Amino acid sequence: MPDSETSSRPVPDAQDPPARFAGPCEVQVLLPLPLAGAYDYRVPEGMTLQTGDFVVVPLGRREELGVVWGAGTGEVAPEKLKDVVGPIDVPPMPPAVSKTVEWVAAYTLSPPGAVLRMAMSVSAALDPPRPILAYRLSATRDDVRLTDARRRVLAVLADGPPRLPAELAREAGVGVGVVKGLADAGLIEPVMLPPRLIAGVPDPDHPGPTLSSPQQDAARALVEMVEADAFGVALLDGVTGSGKTEVYFEAVAAALRRGRQVLVLLPEIALTAQWLQRFRARFGAPPAEWHSDLTSSQRRTTWRAVAEGAASVVVGARSALFLPFPKLGLIVADEEHDQSYKQEDGVAYHARDMAVVRARASAIPVVLASATPSLETLANVEAGRYRALQLPERHGGAAMPHVAAIDMRKHPPSRQSWLSPILRQALAETVAAGEQAMLFLNRRGYAPLTLCRACGHRIQCPHCTAWMVEHRLTGRLMCHHCGTGMPAPRNCPECGAADALVACGPGVERVAEEVVALMPQARLAIMASDTVATPAAAEELVGQVRDHQLDLVIGTQIMAKGHHFPLLTLVGVVDADLGLAGGDLRASERTFQLLNQVAGRAGRAERPGRVLLQTYMPDHPVMAAMLSGDRDGFLAAESETRRAHFMPPYGRLAALIVSGADGRRVDEVARALGKSAPRGEGIEVLGPAPAPFAMLRGRHRRRLLVKARKEANLHGRLRAWLAGVKVPTGVRIQVDIDPYSFL
Ligand code: ADP
Ligand code: ZN
Repeated sequence: MPDSETSSRPVPDAQDPPARFAGPCEVQVLLPLPLAGAYDYRVPEGMTLQTGDFVVVPLGRREELGVVWGAGTGEVAPEKLKDVVGPIDVPPMPPAVSKTVEWVAAYTLSPPGAVLRMAMSVSAALDPPRPILAYRLSATRDDVRLTDARRRVLAVLADGPPRLPAELAREAGVGVGVVKGLADAGLIEPVMLPPRLIAGVPDPDHPGPTLSSPQQDAARALVEMVEADAFGVALLDGVTGSGKTEVYFEAVAAALRRGRQVLVLLPEIALTAQWLQRFRARFGAPPAEWHSDLTSSQRRTTWRAVAEGAASVVVGARSALFLPFPKLGLIVADEEHDQSYKQEDGVAYHARDMAVVRARASAIPVVLASATPSLETLANVEAGRYRALQLPERHGGAAMPHVAAIDMRKHPPSRQSWLSPILRQALAETVAAGEQAMLFLNRRGYAPLTLCRACGHRIQCPHCTAWMVEHRLTGRLMCHHCGTGMPAPRNCPECGAADALVACGPGVERVAEEVVALMPQARLAIMASDTVATPAAAEELVGQVRDHQLDLVIGTQIMAKGHHFPLLTLVGVVDADLGLAGGDLRASERTFQLLNQVAGRAGRAERPGRVLLQTYMPDHPVMAAMLSGDRDGFLAAESETRRAHFMPPYGRLAALIVSGADGRRVDEVARALGKSAPRGEGIEVLGPAPAPFAMLRGRHRRRLLVKARKEANLHGRLRAWLAGVKVPTGVRIQVDIDPYSFL
């Protein structure tokens, strides 16, 4: 995806002029609610609307904000029609956004209103941005005695524009209380300024780095696509450290020169301070940001700035795809293979695929960048739908790291330890040489399982089919699926035995414990989403690594992305086999991508890097490919297997997850689905079966998996099937087209 499906389905021409509706007449208004479709409303006499206008309409006893979607159907009796209350003062939703909303709804089998909700994010985003309070001089009054401090404030204001209270206090060298006092005394008066949203405008002609010749070739090809101003997809395929970011920055610059807006999608986790710094270094000003950490007022300001065309570059996580860019000229999806582009909850969509849909609706190019492209994207390249641009070497002559496997069967760690003698020695050597090392283990906490030695009880989450993970730094047991936490018990909760609970297996905290025992003098830190909870904390830690205030970092995948550490020469992967357990469709592909990314942190500057993979399966194709560096051979074998079994990207999958608090009802619905499942004509349905997480957040879960040949009418048959099954209240059927998670 989105191969044949997306490229063959016509998207109505987004450049069509919007239709106008002068009252009295009828329009359809789509509301950001999970309703079956748009509702008809009357446009009263004297009101004129056009498609895309944001309007307030009555719904039951409430008023709701919606979008004019088109002409009324005429199917509602005139006496039942209600009047549109009125439009609100924001630019209309661009046609390409409404087309994308419709396309995503149809593709994911979701109500269009549920997709629209993502495009409106919080409806508060549509309120006018809150003005900012500032002060200016008011008429001088002589009956007020002036202190020195007050006089200084007045002097600052005497020659200049109104200032925010904090600015004023800083410039005058006084406390904010002095400013407030002056306002109370009537010597200065408040004025409301429009919010300042943009801290400078990215400048395409700001001097950037000089590109190497292969970088220039790739950049030129991308710039040509931007200038052609037509739909097209390019894969920017380059090893870690080859300068993909610098190359796509040139495409960004080209779009800016044409007065167009740009959207750069990053996996949430990769939206790092380092990326922002590099953007600023290239363009002299920061981009606007869009992700889950924004406050609602930042959201509002940014949404407006995008809608008004004032934000020229937005960098964001997947939901940025639905922002109302009126003059979008380019989309970049960096780390295009990253699984976090797939949204699992609610509307299950893949942001990389929908970026292609969005680009097509706007007739603009999209760039997919990766060191380990997904098989989906490579299949599109192979089929000639996407063009590929290669950067085969690291920039500046840095060598690719040397990768070796440690066969854990031959070199086992000692009891209650997780690092083999070889890795322990390599760590010691690296730190002794004044270089840095990184240990990678994709598991937070101290130990993934707590077991009672007396009765064999394993401590499980009360709401999920999952073990509770011990976090020794906080003294708690946590469920990593629903967030349930409890103090770590001293006695077995089942048999009450004292001192019988034992930790099984390692998490990053436990590996850190081992390293401290091994090298008590080494400066080390743990980097995981729970130990480094905020972007600021992550930035600080990254700075400490860069400035060599740390010798060793032990981390999960949040450490694998994007960072550039010149002194880091050793990467040790504690359990390279971890991602292969469970064996879902993409286990090998994903493990290869992750190991590659982690390995890519080593030796990015002059000093050569090495990577040690601890594995019990050194002959596994993933390990073999890591050792030989034969990425393309590995991917070719992977895709052959998929092709032979008609699995994605050579066939299609859809998952149905039936869930609810009442297990019996869930089973009934799942069985009914199984009985009426479509069969034949290139479609096969597996299940129902209990999901691997048979219980999640207190809900019972059953799964069905639909396997379809490419040419089968998957969507049509799914729709007909689902329409025929009665779903009682309390039970939900979630549809996941192109599933990435099988849990
Ligand atoms: P990738 O995204 O392909 O892993 P990056 O874009 O992060 O590679 O580049 C790796 C490092 O090399 C970065 O620190 C980047 O600033 C630097 N770099 C890449 N190209 C150039 C160049 N042409 N001139 C100077 N530095 C560069
Ligand atoms: Zn849980």
